Amino acid sequence: MNGPLAFERSWYAATAQASPQQSALNGDASADVVVIGGGATGVSAALHLAERGARVVLLEAAQIGHGASGRNGGQIIPGLRQGAAELLGNFGEVRGAALFHLALSARGLVVDLIARHGIACDLALTGHLTTAVRPGDLAGFADEAAAAARLGYHDMSVLDAGAARGAVANPNHGALLDAGGGHFHTLNYTLGLAQAAAAAGARLHAASPALRLERRAGGVTVHTPAGRVLAAQAILAGDALLGPLHARVNSRIMPVANYIVTTAPLPGGGAGLIPGNQAVSDSRFVVNYFRRTPDGRLMFGGGERYTPRPPADMAAFVRPFLERSFPMLAGVAIDHAWGGLVSITRSRLPDLGRDGPLLWAHGYSGQGAVLSTLGGALLAEGALGDSSRFDQFADVAPPGFPGGQLLKGPLHVLGMLWYALRDRTA
Ligand SMILES: Cc1cc2nc3c(=O)[nH]c(=O)nc-3n(C[C@H](O)[C@H](O)[C@H](O)COP(=O)(O)OP(=O)(O)OC[C@H]3O[C@@H](n4cnc5c(N)ncnc54)[C@H](O)[C@@H]3O)c2cc1C
Repeated sequence: MNGPLAFERSWYAATAQASPQQSALNGDASADVVVIGGGATGVSAALHLAERGARVVLLEAAQIGHGASGRNGGQIIPGLRQGAAELLGNFGEVRGAALFHLALSARGLVVDLIARHGIACDLALTGHLTTAVRPGDLAGFADEAAAAARLGYHDMSVLDAGAARGAVANPNHGALLDAGGGHFHTLNYTLGLAQAAAAAGARLHAASPALRLERRAGGVTVHTPAGRVLAAQAILAGDALLGPLHARVNSRIMPVANYIVTTAPLPGGGAGLIPGNQAVSDSRFVVNYFRRTPDGRLMFGGGERYTPRPPADMAAFVRPFLERSFPMLAGVAIDHAWGGLVSITRSRLPDLGRDGPLLWAHGYSGQGAVLSTLGGALLAEGALGDSSRFDQFADVAPPGFPGGQLLKGPLHVLGMLWYALRDRTA
């Protein structure tokens, strides 16, 4: 399903480090835990399990990092898609604060793993800006910064239009700065994490799609084209690409295709566009997001499509969004264009859950670049019998999409289109 989304034409693939050795599974294997999916969720789960002495086999349908983790905007956006104010409103002071702080710990976990395993992934802890597309957005930004501060997080501040236009050279009405944000090379991070997992003893298999999952006394059997894994527990970390392997788990998330480009290297490395080198997203529902790359380009994502068919020319699809954000880049050469599937949930909170020997974490709703690593760590804890942190999310798991597998798409698309139309009036 991600095939036509042009991973191999991405800037990430063009600048990737070597992958760890990954052969296909051939024959029978046994494990304490089989992990299905080699994105940051699955690789982090494998690493954390192996470090605690569990026998782990990871099955990846394509190659490690081939899903969203190897092709996203690389934006480190601390926290959840539901901000501090929304969490407090929905869950109250105690639970809201606990969820907020648990999600914030994802950023520290990633920074620590990068340092501990020496992962070369261009980490830039320069902050994240959300720019206001409507003057009225500033009141919401101020509420969010105040709610975060009430919870003890003081890294957020509101920039007025003058300051924000100095930080991002485009038409905007102000911005919310989160100094805890930043950006990184998400594919090289995922590959580095996989190296660490392999070094800790996890067995990683590429080109090994899990085709069928069978429960049996004492655990599960997972079948691939050329082998089987017999394990006590299975972790489902396929996110938007999990598909029919587990229809019920899959029906809890909605895949939405999103497209992204990098320009040719810009004069001055694009420093004039974002002098502080922050990661930036705007306040639209169908968000535009962008950042500079270390080789002097602008990476820009924008525009969603609610059909499974990608546009014939992804660069041409994204270009109008880029040029509207940065009119001075009209006609700029685009060197790379690709797409990916973002998995969203109804509440925009991730969906963590367990059903007997099966555990899963997915649906980070566009904010999984660092949350996925936390998701993997919580899955490992849950599989090893300490579910206290896992359950903080599992207890607030989002409801599934109405209409089941067949209708969830069309019904949700109608809802999304309504919000997308609202953006056009901004
Ligand atoms: C275009 C795009 C831009 C984004 N930008 C950002 C951003 O800037 N910041 C941010 O925070 N988040 C962003 N996200 C979201 C973020 O990338 C994801 O939330 C996160 O990477 C999910 O990680 P994951 O490991 O759960 O899933 P993935 O990285 O998608 O990994 C799942 C893996 O499972 C494998 N798989 C699936 N089914 C099977 C099976 N049956 N057998 C074996 N393997 C299987 C797939 O091949 C895939 O490699 C973006 C997403 C996209 C698509």
